[in-house]
Amino acid sequence: MCDAKRLANVRNSDVLPAPGADPRADGTQGRPLAATLRRRGFLQATSATATGLALAALPSVAPAQVDVGSASTLRKLIPAGQLEEAAAQQYRQMLQQAAAKNALAPDNHPQLQALRSIAQRLIPYALPWNERAKSWRWEVNLIASKQINAFCMPGGKIAFYTGILDDLKLSTDEAAMIMGHEMAHALREHARERVAKTQATSIGISIGAQLLGLGDLGHIAANLGGQLLTLKFSRDDETEADLVGLELAARAAYAPQASVTLWQKMTKASGGGGMGFLSTHPTGPDRIESLEANVPKVLKLYEQARRKAG
Ligand SMILES: [Zn+2]
Repeated sequence: MCDAKRLANVRNSDVLPAPGADPRADGTQGRPLAATLRRRGFLQATSATATGLALAALPSVAPAQVDVGSASTLRKLIPAGQLEEAAAQQYRQMLQQAAAKNALAPDNHPQLQALRSIAQRLIPYALPWNERAKSWRWEVNLIASKQINAFCMPGGKIAFYTGILDDLKLSTDEAAMIMGHEMAHALREHARERVAKTQATSIGISIGAQLLGLGDLGHIAANLGGQLLTLKFSRDDETEADLVGLELAARAAYAPQASVTLWQKMTKASGGGGMGFLSTHPTGPDRIESLEANVPKVLKLYEQARRKAG
């Protein structure tokens, strides 16, 4: 189906679920989340505040279906609490800057509400991946920017740019795949690992010495500048985030096949190079093949979740 045509035929009320509604029940699957921001503008941006998401009860979760091994031990060189604190500060600054430019979506913005309802569904399944996540104060915000970008900082601070929703004309399921992928980076503490590697190298302390407790990188977490917003992860971390994200989304009843269509769209969009997400997320046949190979592993979870959602 032609996406542009599909988008043009959709009205606001069709695109986004009403707050609190179950998107599965009202047939929003496959509908574009991309939308109406330019028309609506950000007139109410000054009243926008970041809102913490209430946590649903932790469901009992079967062992992981995707195989990603255990998280890197290197990450332990950086105290998680300090990194999360630094991330929260950077996130807050970013929101303030966006608000000053009238580019922070207000709480009642339909696209933001849709993103927050995706997060509400994913978070209960995210918690078993990382003990710390139970005490995270998850936040989701939407920033008006043409840039194709989205991220989840350590501690569960999530941001989407309107460019990624609108340019890629994302369906709800595809947006859920991105959010799952980004949550997975935070849950698997890829930023912590990356910062540990970078800092250990830059100050000339061998990683071996650090692991033996012969150095202290703790204070560095507090002096990261804007680094956490622009981290580029390794190929292995990316694969891990793809697979963990795929599983999170399947458990929350988002169609696994959307992971494939999402990266097909990314591949198309990255044709002319790209900023933000496209520059930190190389797309190509490998990535899509790996997802295609893993979709069958989570299909059962997805079907069970769908049945449960009724
Ligand atoms: Zn990634």
